Amino acid sequence: MRPPARARNLRMNPSDPACPARRRLLGIGAAGLALAGAAARPADAMPPPRTASGARSLAFENLHTGETLRTVYWEQGRYLSQPLRDIEYLLRDFRTGQQHPIDVALLDLLHSMGRQLDCTRPIQLISGYRSPATNAALRARSHGVARSSLHMQGMASDIRIPGRDLRHVRDLAWSLGRGGVGFYPHSNFVHVDVGAVRRWNGV
Ligand SMILES: [Zn+2]
Repeated sequence: MRPPARARNLRMNPSDPACPARRRLLGIGAAGLALAGAAARPADAMPPPRTASGARSLAFENLHTGETLRTVYWEQGRYLSQPLRDIEYLLRDFRTGQQHPIDVALLDLLHSMGRQLDCTRPIQLISGYRSPATNAALRARSHGVARSSLHMQGMASDIRIPGRDLRHVRDLAWSLGRGGVGFYPHSNFVHVDVGAVRRWNGV
């Protein structure tokens, strides 16, 4: 029986074998990525029953700090508090160390994108939460930074996805219609947020 949560991911590649296996690798970083190769062992080849009813996972690589995180953040109908805290930490303002809760709608958007683009590689994070001080400093240097950026509310992220064309990432985000999409080809990232649905081109 197919769980309801997966019905949202009809465009994912159903033949990708990496998705069920990786759900078992919770809260681990680069070492855990290597372990994914161990899924050929008979015990690991079994379907993961605990998450068979549906789970949402995310994998991040923070390009500023080098930190990685791979975690199931939603399972059996609820968001999981410790994984949300782990995500909040990884998406913190790396310049000041300040943290802010990340909107779960943003996590669900990134989850949907990750599933549909590439199940096996982490989303590369350029910017998650931004403190008001950092946002003001960035605004002073660049015309492309909004005064009331949704980064300051934990509702936005700047990302790229390894092995996926930036325009493809942009088009997928736009097709989902869950918020704003900014395209920054020269900086090599896409801004996605869960504010008003809108789109723009940056540099
Ligand atoms: Zn942004």
